[in-house]
Amino acid sequence: MSNAKPWIANYPSETAPSLDYPRIPLTQFLVQSAASYPDNNAIYFMGKTISYRELLELSYRFANALVKRGVQKGDRVAIMLPNTPQAVISYYGALFAGAIVVMTNPLYTERELIHQLEDSGAETIITLDLLYKRVAQVRSSTPLKRIFVTSVGDFLPLLKKWLYPLVQKKQGQTPQVTYSADVEPFLSAVKESAVTPVHVPVDPEQDIALLQYTGGTTGVAKGVMLTHANLIANAMQCQAVLYKLRRGGERILGVLPLFHVYGMTTVMNKGICIAAEIILVPKFEVKQIFEMIDKRKPTLFPGAPTMYIALINHPDLKNHDLSSIEACVSGSAPLPVEVKVKFEELTGGKLVEGYGLTEASPVTHSNPIWEKSITGSIGMPWPDTDCRILDTVTGEELPQGEVGELAVKGPQVMLGYWNRPEETAAVLKDGWLLTGDVGYMDENGYFYIVDRKKDMIIAGGFNIYPREVEEVLFEHPSIQEAAVIGVPDPYRGETVKAFIVFKDGKQASEEELEAHCRKKLAAYKIPRKYEFRTELPKTMVGKVLRRQLQEEDKARQEAQ
Ligand code: AMP
Repeated sequence: MSNAKPWIANYPSETAPSLDYPRIPLTQFLVQSAASYPDNNAIYFMGKTISYRELLELSYRFANALVKRGVQKGDRVAIMLPNTPQAVISYYGALFAGAIVVMTNPLYTERELIHQLEDSGAETIITLDLLYKRVAQVRSSTPLKRIFVTSVGDFLPLLKKWLYPLVQKKQGQTPQVTYSADVEPFLSAVKESAVTPVHVPVDPEQDIALLQYTGGTTGVAKGVMLTHANLIANAMQCQAVLYKLRRGGERILGVLPLFHVYGMTTVMNKGICIAAEIILVPKFEVKQIFEMIDKRKPTLFPGAPTMYIALINHPDLKNHDLSSIEACVSGSAPLPVEVKVKFEELTGGKLVEGYGLTEASPVTHSNPIWEKSITGSIGMPWPDTDCRILDTVTGEELPQGEVGELAVKGPQVMLGYWNRPEETAAVLKDGWLLTGDVGYMDENGYFYIVDRKKDMIIAGGFNIYPREVEEVLFEHPSIQEAAVIGVPDPYRGETVKAFIVFKDGKQASEEELEAHCRKKLAAYKIPRKYEFRTELPKTMVGKVLRRQLQEEDKARQEAQ
């Protein structure tokens, strides 16, 4: 199959099946856009804008700040920020300094944060004042040496007036935190540093730009090593597929989190590559999205299915005009057909499904945007991306139409997992990445995902690895055994259900278990449903049969 590539015959004539990738560091996207469109808006954030010239200058300044404080080529710099201008400046600043960026989910609990900082060896972190307490608490258990703290209003002084009172009201928290003496305000570090370009030589194919943490197929959070060349390739492949995009003329609604590789590539890297205005939105909240659409008229809106579902079902929809939206690629989970149809009717633009995974920077497939998209399919492989369907047991390549594990090869495929050669060898063979997803290809080269080989749960676009949740449940003193599966949920796609076996004579209520999980897991990972049992189905070697639990649960739901 890999030689046949039947999808190429279905490519729109404007999309070349193979591209020329410049051998440049990722930061050159920003340098080039600032040279061509210095006065265009690079970022729009809560009523204020930052031009391409300003973004480049701020990033150089932060790079100089890092270099002056001893950050060297290859050092890991963690960024734990929601979608804000500071996240973009920190990202480009760290890359200009030759560092490797480690994107950290601001929702991480202390335990998750410690694992990521320890595993990556990040000595530097940039975070928000509102998140500082968590960083301070883990500090002694991690390699951290430098902490930069920023407040959302750093570049937008007016915002402080209304944002902080809001946050205080909601969280009962005050941003007036006491910092230890070596914590530096991000803004002063930027302001006091030189604006001169920083030149750290980069080998785009070998030098890692990003360590992006994911559970992959085994569930233990590992750092995916993505090179400058990987990230450049994925942004350029995206551009080739969305061939009608105008350089310097697009506005992207940036609500996908930049700390997830999907938002990072489709919003930030691609956006800066085409000198678009990036409309940053820190949190998905329907009313705010409507307001941004009314005000800024975005032309592109990369998102996850749950976002489109929330918009098309909102009672306020009729009061807003979505017609500026021309193209949306939905990824991270399957896109329901009705959602695509209704969204396209409302916007007059296109909403197509794509597919990818962190290990591939992330996108490998999407439907063509303006013609020939097939609902229910993830579309065709992107330029220079080859695919195979492999027998899930033997690993042999299967003929067209048969169902097996999807393997992909292309310039966007990772270098490997950070410090984990065995886990790398298990998924990367001769450049072929085993995705852990099961699917098939039709005779025209369109692919369909039917199942996940791995047990990962995707709730509202967030990945949840059952093992991690089970480990936390196991720590509860009353629990003897726990197994976690994903069960269908009309809004989040899937939600977490836990099957529990208590120790003899012990018990705990759902509320108690929830409170226990809340201490150790980000909110989206906490089980929403529980079932108490006397035993769990297991294999001969004692491995819990999650699939059987899933089937039993499904049968019970259907019988009701
Ligand atoms: P991540 O590494 O967080 O990007 O998660 C990647 C996983 O999300 C893939 O391996 C798939 O299981 C799932 N995924 C992504 N896009 C889709 C899609 N369009 N349909 C079904 N599953 C998807």
